[in-house]
Amino acid sequence: MGRRKKIVQECEKLMDKPDQIRNIAIAAHVDHGKTTLSDNLLAGAGMISDETAGQQLAMDTKDDEQERGITIDAANVSMTHEYEDRNHLINLIDTPGHVDFGGDVTRAMRAVDGALVVVDAVEGAMPQTETVLRQALREGVKPALFINKVDRLISELQEGPQEMQERLLKVIRNVNELIRGMTEDMDDVDDWTVSVEEGTVGFGSALYKWGVSMPSMQATGLDFGDIIDMERNDQRQELHEKTPLSDVVLDMVCEHFPDPLDAQPRRIPRIWRGDDTLDVAEQMRLVDDDGEVVLMVTDIGIDPHAGEVASGRVFSGGLEKGQELYVSGTAGKNRVQSVGIYMGGEREEVERVPAGNIAAVTGLRDAIAGSTVSSIEMTPFESIEHISEPVITKS
Ligand code: GDP
Repeated sequence: MGRRKKIVQECEKLMDKPDQIRNIAIAAHVDHGKTTLSDNLLAGAGMISDETAGQQLAMDTKDDEQERGITIDAANVSMTHEYEDRNHLINLIDTPGHVDFGGDVTRAMRAVDGALVVVDAVEGAMPQTETVLRQALREGVKPALFINKVDRLISELQEGPQEMQERLLKVIRNVNELIRGMTEDMDDVDDWTVSVEEGTVGFGSALYKWGVSMPSMQATGLDFGDIIDMERNDQRQELHEKTPLSDVVLDMVCEHFPDPLDAQPRRIPRIWRGDDTLDVAEQMRLVDDDGEVVLMVTDIGIDPHAGEVASGRVFSGGLEKGQELYVSGTAGKNRVQSVGIYMGGEREEVERVPAGNIAAVTGLRDAIAGSTVSSIEMTPFESIEHISEPVITKS
């Protein structure tokens, strides 16, 4: 059996175990390394080769993206990761980092429960870091932080351990100030600031494929001094082998991001304002696989063979071929032609996509990004508010 087929089968085995699912987005200011980091994760999961991670730009599926070197569409990918002797299904949405594509970022946040925010160690938090954080928090999505390009502090800026630590702490402080400011009036979340001690902050180099966090440093015994020595002595490959970025980040995702069972009771009242005493409200809060089918479409893509493909989050019930579903804002029903998951930008058809997952669906001809698709007529989800960047106009 091919490697790809095997991964699809592994994903399928985990799809109906919501406590082993993590739906996540990676978001960043442009050029801070989101695409390079995503490629590391795909390579770590065995989906692209280790050597080509960083060059392959697997998440950039459109030709014009490859040419322009920026990520345009939010691409989806499902992968598996073993953490503490349990396999996990990680549904990852890559979000555009370019200033013009903020609407896609907001939509991507609707589908996920955790957002890994990537910040360039040299540049620090930038305006778009603030925007993506605001988008995540507004959707009730928990943030974690990855400080990237740490290799540059060592090799280019020649910083020592003290200077480096001060710089990294400053980035964390800035990000936490932003999070605090955005969550102070939210009574449905605990403290969502990030912390090195708690393991919600990672550091490293997506380019050279190494990463560290407090738990990983405790496990490997490597400290900042060792890392600086290895970076300087051209032992980057060894550093990657000792403390691979993908393991550090995916362990963090499994440990700290909520699974759908944790997330949906908190997120549903925030994103859906229907009658909360209805059965369907309870089914969505509880990720009820036997409940009514409820899908929130977050993106419409075009497949050269299948035509329009809707992707989105299944909040309750299970999506299957042949179902006749209501599409909010339109009359009549659409018939599901196929259901699937995404593997590195490609769609793989499966029999059924259960509640708590991100699905790819064909046949929903009336659906647009933002549609609520359901087996009963119901109040649609709140429209997705697009938070735009500050516009600078020339006079
Ligand atoms: P995105 O716009 O956030 O997706 O950023 P990319 O992943 O496309 O990276 C932008 C640029 O930064 C590319 O030239 C990468 O090779 C480079 N880059 C990404 N990660 C690192 C890193 O950890 N260290 C260094 N030195 N460069 C990096």
